[in-house]
Amino acid sequence: MNGGDGFGVYVHIPFCASKCDYCAFATWTDRAHLMEQYLAAVEREIERAELPAATSVFVGGGTPSLVPPERLAALIDTIPVVAGAEITVECNPDNVDSALTTAYASAGVNRISLGVQSMVPEVLERLGRRHDRDNVAAAVDAIQTAGIPTLNLDLIYGTVGESDDDWRSTLEQVLELDPPHISAYALTVEAGTPLAERRADHPDDDVQADRYEIVDDALSAAGLMGYEISNWAKPGHECRHNGLYWAQGDYRGFGCAAHSHSAGRRWWNVRTPDRYIDLVAQGASTEAAGEELDEETRRFEGLELRLRTREGVPLDRLDGEALPGIVEQRGDRWVLTRRGRLMANEVSTHLIV
Ligand code: SF4
Repeated sequence: MNGGDGFGVYVHIPFCASKCDYCAFATWTDRAHLMEQYLAAVEREIERAELPAATSVFVGGGTPSLVPPERLAALIDTIPVVAGAEITVECNPDNVDSALTTAYASAGVNRISLGVQSMVPEVLERLGRRHDRDNVAAAVDAIQTAGIPTLNLDLIYGTVGESDDDWRSTLEQVLELDPPHISAYALTVEAGTPLAERRADHPDDDVQADRYEIVDDALSAAGLMGYEISNWAKPGHECRHNGLYWAQGDYRGFGCAAHSHSAGRRWWNVRTPDRYIDLVAQGASTEAAGEELDEETRRFEGLELRLRTREGVPLDRLDGEALPGIVEQRGDRWVLTRRGRLMANEVSTHLIV
């Protein structure tokens, strides 16, 4: 999984129909009236950037599937890509029908990431999610019928009120849909969210560790191999765009709050769509701030990211002998064991830069 030689484009769509209780992303539920101006501003910024052809494009948010599909397809068409580039759009299952998947397919979209989170209604309610779980199967059907070859289902585990059996049931139901890729994340509490205010609903670390073992067992048994702590795929369906991030490759982000990276310099755009639209209209820079990484920080971050993948880190970058049961030697690399994957942040502190 060496994605570092490519070039990625990220487009942020900051609109959502409702705000989920755990979400700290830059998204708004009351700015739909800005949508057309916003998309035009993103297109203008893309045009001005004179981009090299991208090896991967990721349209995320927010909820990109709230944009009329032909309009989003037109925006995607403005991004130069290499032949065979991976083009992903994040969607809410409620918005996905054959009109949407047909429009996306015609724009070259070959990967859809569906925000499923859980298939258990009570758990969805606890997360403040409003989508209808019955729409997930219909969405998957529309994606497959349109011939879009890769599909990711995003899941969240460890919600208070979710039992082990609820989690197993979610996994069984999604596996029946035979997805080639699944991302499963432990619920995290982000400052400033409604979830942060509700102390009784904060997840328990031990429960999350148990849930991680359940998901890893279930997905491995179904032929989806873990290739990063939170990502499992059938062979050949690993996400190239994420691979680029993990390999510290160059990428350019468009839209409010989007991040970019080029050869050790990172920068990010202003946070609100209103401000972003104004700056583009003025012909001004949309950058809010940036940072230059020194060599050591860059090397450390690179190792930290690799450690989280099945590729692991070179033997001389970690004293693996001192971490029995936590890392294991595979060829000339140290790779996290499953127990180690639950302690990845702690293991990172032992990396030798
Ligand atoms: S749909 Fe996604 S981006 Fe929008 S509020 Fe929910 S978690 Fe956040």
